[in-house]
Amino acid sequence: MEIEWADRIKTLPPYLFAEIDKKKQQLIEKGIDVIDLGVGDPDIPTPTRIIEALHKSSLKSENHRYPSYTGLLSFRNEVASWYKKRFNVDVAGNKNVLILIGSKEGVAHAPLAFINPGDIALVPDPGYPVYGIATTFAGGIPYQMPLLESNGFLPDLDLIPANILEKTKLMFLNYPNNPTTAFATDDFFKKAIDLAYKHKILICHDAAYTEVYFADKPKSFLEYDGAMEVGIEFHSLSKTFSMTGWRLAHVVGNEKAIAGIGKIKTNIDSGAFQAIQEAGIEALRNYEVGLEDRVAIYKKRCELLSAGLESIGIEVYKPKGTFYVWFKNPQGLSSSEFANILLEDAGIVMTPGTGFGEYGEGYTRASVTIDDKKLYEAVERIKNLSI
Ligand SMILES: *Cc1c(COP(=O)(O)O)cnc(C)c1O
Repeated sequence: MEIEWADRIKTLPPYLFAEIDKKKQQLIEKGIDVIDLGVGDPDIPTPTRIIEALHKSSLKSENHRYPSYTGLLSFRNEVASWYKKRFNVDVAGNKNVLILIGSKEGVAHAPLAFINPGDIALVPDPGYPVYGIATTFAGGIPYQMPLLESNGFLPDLDLIPANILEKTKLMFLNYPNNPTTAFATDDFFKKAIDLAYKHKILICHDAAYTEVYFADKPKSFLEYDGAMEVGIEFHSLSKTFSMTGWRLAHVVGNEKAIAGIGKIKTNIDSGAFQAIQEAGIEALRNYEVGLEDRVAIYKKRCELLSAGLESIGIEVYKPKGTFYVWFKNPQGLSSSEFANILLEDAGIVMTPGTGFGEYGEGYTRASVTIDDKKLYEAVERIKNLSI
């Protein structure tokens, strides 16, 4: 029998990083020492205090059974306390917080709760690919909001046509931004909230990088007046605590919206391992312990790589946070041309801007989640590129 895929996956391009990984493997098989600045996955280990909490919790047999769908109340309450401590935002753990198996999981399931076939979701371009794909899976139509350097990589909300806004149910935003490393401004968030009220749009703010900043502290979207009425915010332990493999995150905000995602999830998964949630309590309760030191490592690496790129005449958009360096390709090269030169002439993997959407054309993203020795080596190789 010939197995036939559904149209929704037939037409889907392969997941960006899976494709790059394939090319990388081919070079490794040829004996090339490839330096990977592609995927954004912290190389710094999870803090020991969190691993120890997991160990202790994993020994308790009550944690071996199905977890609760919404997440342990004790963890949801800890998330609420963290929002108070970090952002001075008041939320109720039992109403405004839902635990996720990573924020990718939550983002991917959100459109199922709010999008009817034919509805529109506004997605940033360049942006995390999941926003658009999840919208399509739900039968919705993603509408790209260009993030242009001339506008600080913020979408220009005035340019969204009225007939699009009429059909829009969701708007995805993400600041500090992946891949552009841009931070949002107060004015932008306020304007987005006004637009959301006016057109009944739910704002889904992906805040995975709020703790990875080099100078100014990014705000939570929920700090702004009216945000709780129109929005939710996805947050993850992945980037803050080097816990990408643990799969633990939360979404916080509007009660009805949170309940909507909860309803989807009860029918799809059975929650995050409780021992991991208890380790998450430890992570958030003492969140500042070691955080500055980890972020300082990313800062130093970003500076090192930026200097290396600038030394060959590349224009870098200086990151204020995240662990990415976003820059304009040299010599007007297209993103895929430059990615191939890096890979073939320098054995370096970086992510072409177009992997994040058409408005990423002309740019490249480098992730500094590798050790210093390799990063120095990468900088040397870049300096030796004949471009
Ligand atoms: C890494 C990342 C995520 C996914 O984080 P998980 O919680 O590990 O699923 C979500 N959004 C953006 C923008 C990211 O860069």
